[in-house]
This record gives sequence, C-alpha cells and structure tokens, in this order.
Amino acid sequence: MVKNHPQMMNNPHVTSPVGGFDVWRVRQEFPILKETVYGKPLVYLDSAATSQKPQRVMDAMSHFFLRENANVHRGVHYLSERATEAYENARVKVARFLNAKHANEIIFVRGTTEAVNLVAATFGKAQVGPGDEVLITAMEHHSNIVPWQMLCQEKGAHLRVTPINDAGELILSEMERLIGPKTKLVAVTHISNVLGTINPIQEIVKMAHAKGAPVFVDGAQAAPHLPIDVQALDCDFYAISGHKMYGPTGIGTLYGKREWLDAMPPYQGGGDMILSVSFEKTVYNKPPNKFEAGTPNMAGAVGMAAAIDFVMDVEHHSLVTHEHDVLAYGMAALSTFPGLRLIGTASAKSGVISFVLDDIHPHDIGTILDREGIAIRTGHHCAQPLMNRFGLPATARASLACYNTRHDIDALMAGLAKVREVFR
Ligand SMILES: *Cc1c(COP(=O)(O)O)cnc(C)c1O
Repeated sequence: MVKNHPQMMNNPHVTSPVGGFDVWRVRQEFPILKETVYGKPLVYLDSAATSQKPQRVMDAMSHFFLRENANVHRGVHYLSERATEAYENARVKVARFLNAKHANEIIFVRGTTEAVNLVAATFGKAQVGPGDEVLITAMEHHSNIVPWQMLCQEKGAHLRVTPINDAGELILSEMERLIGPKTKLVAVTHISNVLGTINPIQEIVKMAHAKGAPVFVDGAQAAPHLPIDVQALDCDFYAISGHKMYGPTGIGTLYGKREWLDAMPPYQGGGDMILSVSFEKTVYNKPPNKFEAGTPNMAGAVGMAAAIDFVMDVEHHSLVTHEHDVLAYGMAALSTFPGLRLIGTASAKSGVISFVLDDIHPHDIGTILDREGIAIRTGHHCAQPLMNRFGLPATARASLACYNTRHDIDALMAGLAKVREVFR
C-alpha cells in the first residue's frame, strides 16, 4: 500500500490505494471527473446507467477518423484495409476479453438491447414454437424481458419467471423446478443493475444444460466489474454494451457458441451479410458477418477495444478489490443512516447501492443531491417488475465504477443529511 502519495494529498477525492490499485492515477484518465456542477466537484455515482470514458478511448476513436477511416471489408485500397484491420482487431480483442474460442463467435451490435433482440429474432424464430417456454428472472432489465415477451406473444409461447428472495437473490431451487422439457431458453442477467446481485451463472448453466436448455446471459453490468470467461461459464450467449464498460455508446457485442451461430437464421438483410445475391436466391455469409448487415460502427468498435485495453491495464483483479472496498464502505455507511432502507443485500454483490429513505420520493432525493454535485439515478431503472416485487414505485441508486472512492460515499452521506434537513 502506498501511503501519503504526494499528489494524492492535494486531491480531496482520493483514498489510499487498495490492493495496489491506484485510484488517483485511474481518475487522471477521465477528464470529465474534473468538472464542477453548481460550483461543487462532480461526484459521479451513475455508472450503471453509463460509465465515463478514459481519454484513451476518445483518442483511439479520433485516431480512427483522422488516419484510418474508410468502409470495411469492401475496398482494395489502403485505407479500407486499415479500417478493416482496426475493426477486425477489435473483434479479436473482445474475443480475448471474454475468452471466446474464436473471434468469429463475436458479433458487433449496438449494445446489449440489440443483442437480446438479435437472439430473439434468430434463435427464437427458429427454436421457439407454440406452447414452448422462455425462462427469465424477476430481476431482469426491460431489455431482457420485452424482446422475449414479444417473441412469446408472436409464437404462442409462455414467459416464465424465476422468483427472488427479499435480499434480491435468485431462488435456484425454484429455477430448477421451472426448467422443463418445454424450456427453449433461459435468459438471465449476470449482475442486476438495480440490486447489484451477482448471479451464479456457472451453476445456472449446469442446471439448464442438464435439462437441455441453452442459456443467454445479459452481461451489461458484469463486463466492467468482473473478469468474464464464456468458456468456463459454458453459456450459449453473452451480451455486453461498450458504454457500460468505459467505451462509447452505439456499440456492443453478442457472443454466441459457434454451433448456435451456424444454425441460426440471419438477423437483418443487407450488404456484408451475403456471399452472393440474385433475385432468385441469396447465399448468406458465415458468422459473424451473417449477423452484421450494413456498414458497421467501426469507430465504436475501435473505441470499445480501447476500453478493453483500459480495463485490462488497470488489472481486473485489483479493480474488483478496489470497487468491493468502496461498496462495503458504502453499504456500511448507508445502513446507519436513519430511515434508510437498502434494496438489494445479496451476499454476492457488485457496486450498486439502491435505497429508499422514509417516504421521500427518490426523485426529490436525486434533485437535492444534484445541487450538491452528486449524480445518482432515481426511478424504476428499466426494471418495473422488480420494483413491483419490492412493492416500490422507484428507488434511488448510487452505482460505482473503478474511479469512485470512499470520499464519494462521504459526499453522498453529507448530501443525504441535506435531504433529511429539507424534509424534516
Ligand atoms: C444497461 C443494461 C441493459 C441495456 O443495455 P443497452 O446498452 O442500453 O442496450 C441491459 N441489461 C442490463 C442489466 C443493463 O444494465
């Protein structure tokens, strides 16, 4: 541990490094964290909605536009080859990040939402029929509910829901009971964006595979916080969003096991997803191109690759340790605040702290904190069925990333004291 780092003493936001993780140096990479809001230093506690971006992500994207921009896969000219190389290198980087067997198991999409819709439209179209079932859980984001619901409505299939306990953990015995011969897919989030619960994906996959059901994992919240190994998890699909993991918006990836990707019909039709086209017959390209119609988000892919470099450089393990330290500090602090109720107290938990405070509307909490420069999220967090499960219309949510510190929690506590004053 480094104590009294000379530069740290000048920075009011910084705590001592935990497990060799130098949060001060990490913060230097994020220019936006130097912003002030209403004259107060920004305290950004909304990374579960979108993370901030390190300078190197912006640099990589502008380098692409400045030096490499051209359309991919089509040109014989120099720049087109450079652009194709940059785009395909990004795919290889994602494959390594997720430990996929082959880069051609990685499909670029707009984000997790599009990844779910892609699987519903292709796998779902081919595999789900009348009377079949898709099993989700009570803690899913709307993105991992609505596309399955639409599919089930269209096909005359049924959506089943694994319940959770009061701590916000999946009831696995119920899940096992709900997986049957009609279950065509189990779709589950790796980490809940509201509760922070880390689900035991490996165990769930074993359980589902034992009954012949493939598993789709929503990894939007896991990618920035946990090392991911799709081969060890043995999941069939895994979706991530660039913007939740320090990358740009409008880009994300779907991992799919090669056997599934070969068997699935294409997603959208257009250029790049074909081998040959005539008015009588089109021969589709192989995965991943089969699922990437049209000119892709090349700069986005380059930015996402730079974000992965960032996460790998700060070293996932020490990042996890640091975030866990701030989370534990935050949970302990908030649990002592009079009238505050924590929503989501799973034993395996990532950096999301949801809470309600007496009967003060979360929107009012968020508005008062905003005047103190503190950014949190309030509302249903795209998980209305989960809110219903806890009998709440909304919560306040403080969510953490690698750049947050214990001082951010102290600022939140001071802000909540202000809220208390206003509503005395
Ligand atoms: C943000 C989020 C999504 C949706 O991701 P987009 O990037 O908005 O497509 C899905 N699931 C979870 C758990 C999320 O946090």
